[in-house]
Amino acid sequence: MSARRLAESVWMVGSGTDPAALTSPYDCHVYLFDGGTEALLVDAGTGLATDRLLAAIAGTGCRGRLTHVLITHSHADHAGGAAGLREATGVRVCASAETAAALRDGDEHRSQVAAARAAGIYPAGYRYPACPVDEVAGDRTTWTVGSLTVTAHASPGHCDGHLCFLVEHAGRRALCTGDAIFHGGRVSIQPIPDCRPYAYARTAERLAELDVDALLPGHGDIALDGAAAHLTAAADSFRRLVTPPNIVAEG
Ligand SMILES: [Zn+2]
Repeated sequence: MSARRLAESVWMVGSGTDPAALTSPYDCHVYLFDGGTEALLVDAGTGLATDRLLAAIAGTGCRGRLTHVLITHSHADHAGGAAGLREATGVRVCASAETAAALRDGDEHRSQVAAARAAGIYPAGYRYPACPVDEVAGDRTTWTVGSLTVTAHASPGHCDGHLCFLVEHAGRRALCTGDAIFHGGRVSIQPIPDCRPYAYARTAERLAELDVDALLPGHGDIALDGAAAHLTAAADSFRRLVTPPNIVAEG
């Protein structure tokens, strides 16, 4: 298994579904951006295959320069691997206050891990590893990581405390959308306490106003160009008071 190069300085290093970067079938897509002197990750996978994730990172040549892992939200397929990555590499874990509250305590209720495990979404023996959060981020928090500039965008709806990360690299702008907006303008609405369709609609409208090239969601297909079409499709649907197609129903 090796990382999948998406652009000069962008890699997919973890994924449950992408055959080129297979880590654990339970993982979200994990993206790596190389800023030259420093590098960052967006999301961490479940932690079920952190050894494979680290091997993929090593394959990019960035392991020794990894400084930040930015977590989109608390769900285990995105945040469960943070503890193992931090322990192995010393990377700074950055997350919203809501995500930090779940991660710091390994809270399986706030993170919905208990419900997801009961539903068969995770293996019966899976546990959500507690992880210190080094930096609490919010809307418009920015980072400079080597040559990269990153801005967090608050994006509640799928769950509370969800952040999307806009990464500017070599004149290009990639939006890592986690579980907010997917390819084709699809969304992820689930019957969990902090999934909020009204907030989701406002999130879709705000994200559609951003000037971005690439759409890098947490699952499914990616778009290296033309991200606006996908973001606008979701916003337009919500504006018509029609919930966009749901990624969960398909898979
Ligand atoms: Zn999620």
